[in-house]
Amino acid sequence: MLELKEMFHNPRCVVCHEDMDYQMSWGQLFSKETATLLCKTCLNKLIEIHGETCSICGRSFENGEYLFRREELCFDCIRWEENLEWSNQLACNTSIFTYNDFLKQVLATFKFRGDYMIVHAFSIFIKRKLKELMPNILVPIPLSTERLYERGFNQAEALIREAGYNPTHLLSRLHTEKQSKKSRAERIHVPQVFTFIPDVIDVRNQSILLVDDIYTTGSTLRHAAKVLKQAGAANVSSLTLARGGQYCLCYL
Ligand SMILES: [Zn+2]
Ligand SMILES: [Zn+2]
Repeated sequence: MLELKEMFHNPRCVVCHEDMDYQMSWGQLFSKETATLLCKTCLNKLIEIHGETCSICGRSFENGEYLFRREELCFDCIRWEENLEWSNQLACNTSIFTYNDFLKQVLATFKFRGDYMIVHAFSIFIKRKLKELMPNILVPIPLSTERLYERGFNQAEALIREAGYNPTHLLSRLHTEKQSKKSRAERIHVPQVFTFIPDVIDVRNQSILLVDDIYTTGSTLRHAAKVLKQAGAANVSSLTLARGGQYCLCYL
């Protein structure tokens, strides 16, 4: 006969596969909100972003980042906002965790191994944040057809679905060439990355929340936001699981 905990919960951590028996509690077992598929060791490796952040990109100002800020904005966002082509496109990004080595490994696992259980484990954090943000339209950043074929699923879409929300597909990628082969400057200067898919919903005067796994330079999300604003959206924000910590300082 199955032990009770096995009926309710996978007793192994989905990231490191360690046995989680020792830290199970009745509370965790029965509360969907607190239930997690990650062990304590892995949870402790996650650095949640809290406290003061850049008011546009959500970067933490907690670790001496004041060197790279002017009032409520970080240097990267100041540069984006000074550029007429890019100012006022992305209203506000919220990222849940700092992109550290642990998260890098986790994201690589769900991108390249197509491990859906890991996406499921992390969707719990997305769900909590979505409850605060209360978006009405959630748009996943699309993958190219080629990448989708390699991975089997779009991790941004999976994060939305696993959090219990419905994604609205309003964007498609214009080119399939791998972004990672390009330099940062090339990625930022490509004229258009996405195209708007018409006739799905009327986006005019709507607020839209983009979802992606990581905010790195902010270029992808700004390209997406721009396309949606051109289609009439009133406001475009974004939510990502991770926020890369490096300053770009070189792209405009
Ligand atoms: Zn673990
Ligand atoms: Zn910023």
